[in-house]
Amino acid sequence: MEAGTDEQMSVREDVQAFLQRAGSMFVDGKWVDSSSGKRFKTLDPATGEILAEVAEGDAEDINRAVKAARTAFENPAWRRMPPAQRERLVRKLAQLMEDNIDELAELETLDSGKPVNASRYVDLPLTIDTYNYYAGFPTKLEGDVLPHGCPYTPDDRYFSYTLREPVGVVGMILPWNFPLLLLSMKLGPALATGCTCVIKPAEDTPLTTLRLGELIQEAGIPDGVVNIVPGYGETAGAALAAHPDVDKCAFTGSTEVGKSIVTSATGNLKNLTLELGGKAANLVLEDADVEAAVNGAAMAIYTNQGEICCAGSRLYVHRNLFDAVVEGIVDLSSKLQVGPGIDPATEMGPLISQAQLDRVSGYVNLGQREGAEVLIGGCRKGEQGFFYEPTVMVNTNNHMRVVREEIFGPVLSVMPFDSLDDVINEANDSIYGLSAGVWTRDISKAHEVSARLQAGTVWVNCFHIFDATQPFGGYKQSGWGREWGRAALEHYTETKSVCIKL
Ligand code: NAD
Ligand code: MN
Repeated sequence: MEAGTDEQMSVREDVQAFLQRAGSMFVDGKWVDSSSGKRFKTLDPATGEILAEVAEGDAEDINRAVKAARTAFENPAWRRMPPAQRERLVRKLAQLMEDNIDELAELETLDSGKPVNASRYVDLPLTIDTYNYYAGFPTKLEGDVLPHGCPYTPDDRYFSYTLREPVGVVGMILPWNFPLLLLSMKLGPALATGCTCVIKPAEDTPLTTLRLGELIQEAGIPDGVVNIVPGYGETAGAALAAHPDVDKCAFTGSTEVGKSIVTSATGNLKNLTLELGGKAANLVLEDADVEAAVNGAAMAIYTNQGEICCAGSRLYVHRNLFDAVVEGIVDLSSKLQVGPGIDPATEMGPLISQAQLDRVSGYVNLGQREGAEVLIGGCRKGEQGFFYEPTVMVNTNNHMRVVREEIFGPVLSVMPFDSLDDVINEANDSIYGLSAGVWTRDISKAHEVSARLQAGTVWVNCFHIFDATQPFGGYKQSGWGREWGRAALEHYTETKSVCIKL
């Protein structure tokens, strides 16, 4: 990026200053080293160079953090905090993020690769909205007075009501694709309901979560309510998922690891919410607005380099529109600005890591061996960093692994269809069910198709439109439970029935 204005310069200085001081983990309100003294490196995926070295937590650090979270959960300062005061604290955190939005956006981009305009104008506003949305709930978490009448003690009268209580200590395990946003979907409801937590950020992207830890302190959230332990999945993550004193685990990541979390959770039968993989079908019906569908379908796959669980990676187009839609998407793909996320002109950044680059190119090669034709892309871009070209494949079908499995990269399969029944069957023929899209000008078809698609979110004439009010989560192997909206609060509270004989 060019030298830029004074304001940009000072943001850059803030980011550099944080990279210098980052490195510790956040346990019980203190910044401490890992108990082993080990550290690990986090990279800038645009260059492959080291950004910072961060404390590497393991099972012992998870133990310390869970103890702190348990003590904070029992502490009346948090437990009995007046709801209006809890609201102010969560709002204060949202305000501090707003005050530091440029720094957080730049740090998110450096650590994860995504375009800085996406960090600054999508991820961060949505994250801040999410905290503000949940900040409103502490004063509104009401129970019910029940019209109780016990059938076998008809002569007695009872007063019976429900209380909504926090579920307890929550373990949060995060992926690298939307570090701050996916955390807000867990931490927002946790703080609003009076839970405490231990956060295990992804090993590729610990930095913004650690910076958030500083803001959590500055907001005045009591020590031990939020603990952050960076580290690897097999060590820190597995210890958190299996910990007997963790009441709930909120996980976002791959379906494979999600299944291992289910197994780990059986020891104390902890509550789980799981946001897992996806392979979204995007349907362009015969009467669609072709230009809107082309733009929307390209955005559906290329947003966040395709590293988004709800990516529209399977595009089904009515045969009469097939050639026009394919041509339009190939044209847009050829014009997409791929480059370092920190450059404001960039529309698509690098993939997160060498491993992800290998995974994506491996899938495209596999698709070609299975008979797919690559119309554009299909290669790594450049030699520095982990860039991959926007890629469009045709001659694919539902039997091929590239259509069945999640690639998690900028790779689209486009397939023609003839009838609505056929395409709905094909769309639903997946182990996943996170999201889907429909492009049509027929209002009846929009409702009908939305009802018949097995997906937690259906977008009609749009894609990747999110809001804190709108529950998000998966059918089938895309997960358990919902984040966002009131639906999420159910997963962070226990309902207690109290029955008093009068
Ligand atoms: P991942 O499952 O490998 O890792 C996610 C997190 O789990 C990381 O913090 C990792 O350290 C941790 N982890 C790994 N092994 C673990 C174990 N054995 N026990 C406990 N924790 C462990 O996923 P990823 O590569 O970081 O992210 C990509 C995947 O995440 C994709 O499949 C994508 O679909 C999914 N994802 C889903 C959503 C959603 O909302 N549904 C959002 C983002 C990403
Ligand atoms: Mn990184």
